[in-house]
Amino acid sequence: AGVPAAAPAPPPARHLFSDPAEVEALRRNLLAWYDRCKRDLPWRALVSPALLPAVWVSEIMLQQTQVATVIDYYTRWMQKWPTLQALAQASLEEVNELWAGLGYYSRGKRLQEAARKVVSELAGRMPRRAEELQKLLPGVGRYTAGAIASISYGQATGVVDGNVIRVLCRLRCIGADSSSPAVIDQLWDMANVLVDRSRPGDFNQALMELGATVCVPKSPLCGECPVKQHCQAWRRKLFGQAPPVPDVEDCGVGDCPLCPPATEPWDSSLGVTNFPRKAAKKPPRAMRTATCVLERRGCHGAPEYLIVQRPSSGLLAGLWEFPSVPLAQDLQGEKEREELADHLQAWMGQPVAAKGLQFIGEVIHIFSHIHQTYVVYSLHLDGDVTLDPALSPSRWVTEDEFHASAVSTAMKKV
Ligand code: SF4
Repeated sequence: AGVPAAAPAPPPARHLFSDPAEVEALRRNLLAWYDRCKRDLPWRALVSPALLPAVWVSEIMLQQTQVATVIDYYTRWMQKWPTLQALAQASLEEVNELWAGLGYYSRGKRLQEAARKVVSELAGRMPRRAEELQKLLPGVGRYTAGAIASISYGQATGVVDGNVIRVLCRLRCIGADSSSPAVIDQLWDMANVLVDRSRPGDFNQALMELGATVCVPKSPLCGECPVKQHCQAWRRKLFGQAPPVPDVEDCGVGDCPLCPPATEPWDSSLGVTNFPRKAAKKPPRAMRTATCVLERRGCHGAPEYLIVQRPSSGLLAGLWEFPSVPLAQDLQGEKEREELADHLQAWMGQPVAAKGLQFIGEVIHIFSHIHQTYVVYSLHLDGDVTLDPALSPSRWVTEDEFHASAVSTAMKKV
């Protein structure tokens, strides 16, 4: 039997809200500000249990879209399907029509499926607690569940979205990677401690609103901030490198899991925007690929182009492309052309003169982690060619057929 693992040490006090009097004061200040300054948004109108929860529809629409765009879609949606029953009876066709232009169509589809599920499997009774909402409704994640439960049904549960991450990291000088699961868990715990017990929905909206309008990413308006006296980042900025409050500097020297890494200390030119931090993304890998648009006259005289299929795994798996060959980074000019000619020759089983390849231009395309440059050539063929079927599936297509084929955006650019 092994020795039981020690429980992880709790985070240092400076990263927590451990003083109940401070928590009370923060709630009071934030809610008073919200009551004075909140934006007038249609989904903040009166909540009625008989209606489809407004915050559900709005939060799903807002997931990838700006507030200004969402307002019109939201208004039309709620006019058309004001209740769960109405939405449950909608067809996917109708949902897609209303959603047209909003993008990420699966969002609308899942909203409709969820409404159908509530009506047919849950006897029309919408779950009201965050845990149930997340478990039972398709498309409802932890954040949306918390928002619906607190705003529509008054459950005292916190929410963490991008705005809340920023505000909390600044309030408590959390400089460890804010996208890491350990930090995110910590922020959820903090949001649950902070949320006002009697006005949870307003409190959550206030915290998000603060992030959207005052504690903004680039130039936060700290002077106008209703919670600045609770903000460790603001204190640190005011007092610079030598704060008179000893606990503010307590950690960070050791291996505090919530402090910035020792290699990235506080940068006084950034002030409060030292927080939050994300781990730096790896720079994209640069790749060069020579590609050849092979063209011939089809039987009706229209030009046809050769496309070949990529392997069934890896990047752009199974998509079709013009014959291409990855180039070594140090290859330049004529050498690139020769490399492509060799590749085509092996493949067509007949000599291809590098000189015959006409350089057209370069196309740059960024995949998530690859900065790809296609060096594009073309070659007109007079006679027919027999391609080696062992190399990869290939076919001749007209321009229309090309666009209708499973080709990547990068190849369309080519
Ligand atoms: Fe954000 Fe500044 Fe307010 Fe702190 S004082 S919460 S950094 S706006």
